[in-house]
Amino acid sequence: MAENHAPFIVLGAGPGGYACAFRAADLGLDVTLVDPRASLGGVCLNEGCIPSKTLLHAAEVIREAAHMDDWGIGFAKPKIDLDALRAKKDDIVGQLTGGLGGLAKRRKVTVVRGTAKFTDANSLEIDGKSWSFDKAVIAVGSAPVQLPGWPEDDRIWNSTAALELRNVPKRLAIVGGGIIGLEMATVYSTLGSDVTVIEFMDQIAPGADAEAVKILAAALEGQGVTLHTATKVAEVAATKAALSLSCEGIFEGTIKADAIIQAVGRRSNGAKVSPENAGVTMDERGIIAIDDSCRTNVDGIFAIGDVTGNPMLAHRATHQGHVVAEVAAGHASALDTDLIPSVAYTSPELAWAGLTQAQAKDAGTPHKVASFPWAASGRNLASGGGDGLTKIVYEPESHRVLGATLVGRNAGELLAELVLAMEMSATLEDIALTVHAHPTLSETVAFASERALGTLTDL
Ligand code: NAD
Repeated sequence: MAENHAPFIVLGAGPGGYACAFRAADLGLDVTLVDPRASLGGVCLNEGCIPSKTLLHAAEVIREAAHMDDWGIGFAKPKIDLDALRAKKDDIVGQLTGGLGGLAKRRKVTVVRGTAKFTDANSLEIDGKSWSFDKAVIAVGSAPVQLPGWPEDDRIWNSTAALELRNVPKRLAIVGGGIIGLEMATVYSTLGSDVTVIEFMDQIAPGADAEAVKILAAALEGQGVTLHTATKVAEVAATKAALSLSCEGIFEGTIKADAIIQAVGRRSNGAKVSPENAGVTMDERGIIAIDDSCRTNVDGIFAIGDVTGNPMLAHRATHQGHVVAEVAAGHASALDTDLIPSVAYTSPELAWAGLTQAQAKDAGTPHKVASFPWAASGRNLASGGGDGLTKIVYEPESHRVLGATLVGRNAGELLAELVLAMEMSATLEDIALTVHAHPTLSETVAFASERALGTLTDL
């Protein structure tokens, strides 16, 4: 006999796990939520999405103020108090995680602090205590990938360490030009580091639209960030004076740095819950196979979020969490979309969803492209915005939207209209005939549609 019993137990309290637990409680289930952290919210709230956005906001304010010079408004060089900035970030994280604790309590979700491992298909061990369960959800997320063969050195940071804001290194090398690498380049270059990004693939933000990425790359270079693409780090050496990165590829040579951020992707934490003891199928990368309703191969055991593979994004996990809660409560529910938006909160932001032009071409999908350059957007210019682009990939016959990419200020917010258009199979006519307020950046979406339809008067 187990010491405890949970009718519905969720392992991991990140955006997937807590959303699942709360939705299940709202549907009347008796819910237990397990996480080793003292606060709810997982990596996203505690050491990911939210702390990075607070630092990105601080960086944006610094950059905006500096840009006002040519508007006739001069500010003094900012005094940056790292301790105060760190405290502000921690305070914002605390407000959110504290709020989640309150929401769990009000829903009567039992929160257990501990690390869970399956012992069989109906039982778990949590910090030495045995638990039986009727239904379980694996939502234990992912951890940063660590490249092998690097020295142990506290000047080598993963994303968690980078967000701790330990110091502002004079020379910072960032290995990996994906979302984390680019967001951290934005933060640290603005705080004063001399930043070099080393990316293995032939463009930063691989997978995103090449034309939009060029605009982002030029902006980052304008902010003083050095970008080396198609370059790999062959070796890292540490001496007291500096870290040295030997690079091979388009850039050949040694980069000296006072700190390195390793941002080369994340790896599923699936193996940490010993799913094999329950008979759950997991591949060698720790990815757990699921169906459209997030069921694993074992009856009563579900998996959501980063443990189920790419894209490893909080909003995907949240939607999967809701689906699982509904299925567990006896409803028919499935995640019937592969439309998961991606946003890099850089300056400018880069946001995309659905098919890129290159993906449509490679897949042989009939498509056309409509775009609108932000140099022709009154609102963009009036807000001091730089180069930007709204680009829509659409089906030539039906004019339905197949994909969209935006680069520019608030691109992440603007993308939502196009994701909704894709969800609802809206056509370019639907978008063009929707009255967009003037002057807004959202007009660029309508203008791109009008341009494709030949009705644009603003270009
Ligand atoms: P990523 O997969 O986005 O980028 C990793 C980058 O590192 C890739 O461009 C890859 O080509 C490169 N790379 C891999 N090995 C390399 C090597 N040896 N040398 C040089 N470059 C190498 O991963 P990430 O940026 O670490 O982010 C991890 C996960 O977290 C991703 O799934 C990301 O989408 C997610 N995330 C999302 C957000 C957001 O939504 N704003 C923010 C942060 C992280």
